[in-house]
This record gives sequence, C-alpha cells and structure tokens, in this order.
Amino acid sequence: MEKRRCAGCRKLFHPRPQSPGQRFCSAAECQRERKRRWQQARRAADPDYRDNDVQASRQWRCRHPGYWRAYRHKHPHSVIRNRAKQRERDRARRLKAPPPPPGPDLANEDASSLQLPFDTGLMVKKLIRIEISTVYQLLTVSQCLCILPQMRLRIG
Ligand SMILES: [Zn+2]
Repeated sequence: MEKRRCAGCRKLFHPRPQSPGQRFCSAAECQRERKRRWQQARRAADPDYRDNDVQASRQWRCRHPGYWRAYRHKHPHSVIRNRAKQRERDRARRLKAPPPPPGPDLANEDASSLQLPFDTGLMVKKLIRIEISTVYQLLTVSQCLCILPQMRLRIG
C-alpha cells in the first residue's frame, strides 16, 4: 500500500491494511492527537456526550483534589499558554456576541439607562427621609452611583 502523510506529525507512513482510511500514523503522540480531535468533534456534535464528559471530568477532579494545582505548579509554561489561549477565546466570543446590557452591578456614567431590580421611585422616596450618610451605608457603591442622579432630581 502506498505511503500517506500523517495528519498529526506530517511524516509519511504506511496505512494499516485493516484501516484503509487511516489518517494518523501509529506514533503514540499522533494517536493521542487523533483521539483528541475525535473527542472534540463528538463534544461539538453530541450534547449527551458533552454532558457526560463534563460530569466525568468533575468526578475525576473530586477523586483527585489538588491534581491540577500541582500540575500548574510543575508546568508554568502551560499556565501561560492556557491563559493566552483563554484570552483569545474570550476576545473571539466578545466579538461574536452583542455587548451585554448594563446591569445594576456595573458602575456606568449613563445611570438613566440602567435597569434596577427594584422600584427605584418608591425606594428613593423612603430613603430621602433618612440621612444621606445612612443611605450610603445601605447601598453598595454601584447602587449609589445608579441612584444618586435620581435622588438629586427629586431632592432638588
Ligand atoms: Zn504521525
């Protein structure tokens, strides 16, 4: 049988007669790569497989606490590489997805566009009766930033 180029290491190899469609040579590294790509495709195509995989990983981590912490400690280059790749994925996701609506936890200059999870008008009426210092104690900083422009309107 004629030689073929391995989809992993790019070296020429003889496909096994039992596997005429063989794309990877028999080197351990290339067989790992073949399995990795197969699993990646399966996870993307089959939600049951993906869920099962997530569950299995979670159980494995429970049985081996500290494994990944020790691994990261022993392989600092891996940590740097993973961090860079995750940043890349995050950036790609941000470019694809529309920007999230501003939430009440985000400080935002344009407070009027914020959706507050409570009836601001009612709350402001009650709060105006309390001293401003008390208001600050009751609200988180971001809530203060949201609520203050409206308080000024009602006070003034
Ligand atoms: Zn190979």
